[in-house]
Parts: sequence; C-alpha cells; structure tokens
Amino acid sequence: MISDIINRTELQKAQRIISKAQSVAIITHMSPDGDAMGSSLAFCHYLRTIGKDPVAVIVPNHFPDFLAWMPGADQVLIYEDNKAECDTILLSADLLICLDFNELKRIGDVAGPVAKSGAKKIMLDHHLNPDNFPDVVMSYPDSPSTAELVFRFICSSGDFDMISLPVAQSIYTGMMTDTGNFSFNSNHVDTYNIIAELVRIGVDKDAIYNQVFNTYSADRMRLMGYCLYKKMRIFPEQHTALIALDRHELYRFNFTAGDAEGLVNLPLQIKDVYYSVFMREDKDKIKISFRSQGDRPVNEYASLFFNGGGHKNAAGGENYESVEKAVALFESTFKDYFTK
Ligand code: 5GP
Ligand code: MN
Repeated sequence: MISDIINRTELQKAQRIISKAQSVAIITHMSPDGDAMGSSLAFCHYLRTIGKDPVAVIVPNHFPDFLAWMPGADQVLIYEDNKAECDTILLSADLLICLDFNELKRIGDVAGPVAKSGAKKIMLDHHLNPDNFPDVVMSYPDSPSTAELVFRFICSSGDFDMISLPVAQSIYTGMMTDTGNFSFNSNHVDTYNIIAELVRIGVDKDAIYNQVFNTYSADRMRLMGYCLYKKMRIFPEQHTALIALDRHELYRFNFTAGDAEGLVNLPLQIKDVYYSVFMREDKDKIKISFRSQGDRPVNEYASLFFNGGGHKNAAGGENYESVEKAVALFESTFKDYFTK
C-alpha cells in the first residue's frame, strides 16, 4: 500500500486547472538531470494519454546524451537553441507545469517568459523553500525524487491505469538517478512499492540502469581518472574532498553536457570522507556541486557562500569570479561548516 502524501486541497486545485487546460507546457531546471527529464516526460506522456494536446516539454539547455534514449526525449524543446519557438509556446500555453525546481532562478532564461505568461502554473517538486509564483504549489522535500511525486500525483488522481510504459520508464529513470541507483534517500518502503508497480507495467530496470550508467565515453572515463589521480585534494580533518577543474582541463577531455554527472560522488567512496565538493568552469560561471553523507547538511553552506541551495546531502551553487577564487573562498570558509 502506497501512502497518500499529496495534499487533497492542492491536488483538487491542480486537477481542476488541468481539466480546464488544453495547451500545456512542462518546464524543468537548467542542466536537466534524470529526475528533471524523467518527471517532465512522464507528466507529458500522462497528459497526452488523458487527452491534452498540445503538450510541450521545454528545458533551458541541453540534457546529457545518456538520457537521449528516453521516450519522447527527441521532441523536447531546448530553450537556448529555439528561443522564439519556445517563447511562443510558453506565452500561448494556458497551463505551465513546473517540475523538479523550486525557484525561477533555477530555469535560467526560461524564467523571463514564465514570469510574463498569464497561464495557470502548477509546481510539483521536492526542493526546500518553494517560490510562491505558481497557483498551486505541491512541494514535498522528503520525497527522494520528483518522478516519485509524479507517480503519486497520477495515482491520487485516480489514473493509475493511465500509466503507460513510457510514463513508467520515465518515472523509474527519475527515481533511480536522484537516489544514485537507490543508494541514498532510499530507505522509504513506498519507493519499492512504486518500483514494483512500475516493473509490473513493464519497466526493464536493468536495461534502464545500463542505458544511464554504462554509456560513458572513453573521454569521460579518462576525465574521471584525471580527477581522482591528479586533482582530488583531501582535507582529512574535515573529512572533505575537493576537485576543481578549469575550462582548459575540460577542453582536454572533450567535455560535454553530463560528463560531470556523478564525479562529485566518487570521493565519498573513500573511508572517512563524508563531504565532497566538485567545481568546474562553465561558460559564464563556476558551477559547484556539494555532496555529503548522513546528518551533515551542505545546502545551507551552498546558499551562504555560493548563491545556491538544494537538499541536505546534495546541493549546488555558483561563483562568478574564477576557479581559483572559488577554491580560495571555499578553503577560507568550509572548516566552520564541514564538521564531523
Ligand atoms: P547538482 O550538484 O547535481 O547540480 O545539484 C544537486 C542539487 O543541488 C540539485 O538537485 C539542486 O537541488 C541543487 N542545486 C544545484 N545547483 C543549485 C543552485 O545553483 N541553486 C540552488 N538553489 N540549488 C541548486
Ligand atoms: Mn530531483
């Protein structure tokens, strides 16, 4: 039995809005990951099944190649490549569904048309401190993934029978990636009851694992080796590891979207390393990822020093100066926060 966590009032409000809407756009966060893509594609297939048309999925920038196999990924619109078309869709839609992000800042340039649009807006998400721009906010920070919330939303709407194979595959992908293949935030019984339902519908979980985790390029593997052998610094007293890469290093390994995915988790495999920080130079900023184990929050630190936030054990942030400056800022501040 899967518990009913979605608030009845919000659910009914969302259902009323969905039933009146015809033209829908689904939006998700920058650098879309498995949960962003999984929850968005699942919702898209579900809405099409219940008769909504058109339903578009718009992402701010490119998603990684290891998600390109996902059903419907080939129709996802990439805002940075198709601004005019996306603006038209966003401004003419009568419903915007915001998945896997809590604030407009997280959707980059898509925030402009979303703020301007007169459409109804529904947010379904699992990040702390949701913005209040949507008409309906369904925010469950204890949920391990937004994809799991999509499953719950569909079931609570009485539409379990509408979960087609593409919906199930998309949901499973989000659940799997946001829990590191069920290695963190994954002690909830409901998660496994949901997986059982998805497998019953036909999800081949082993195939999805292979498609997502066993499709690295040789360059990506070499980048991983370089990070661990040459770049990783350990601060034993703070149980912390740091890896920082500048654009020349990324260029050397033909870096593409998604290649950094998972690198931040690697140092946590070291005994007595409980905090891991990964920095990389992006086009116009330094992107920083924070991970931790157990009761050691990193989101507050990310927000205090790196304009970011996120979950207790997985947070992110940005710096607008240089890799050296970001590393220096980190070195001068983290010891008070990364304590055993
Ligand atoms: P990642 O390190 O995988 O990019 O991000 C981990 C988590 O941190 C994401 O799920 C997201 O919740 C959060 N996060 C990443 N970057 C940012 C950011 O710039 N701002 C905020 N508020 N959260 C972020
Ligand atoms: Mn997520």
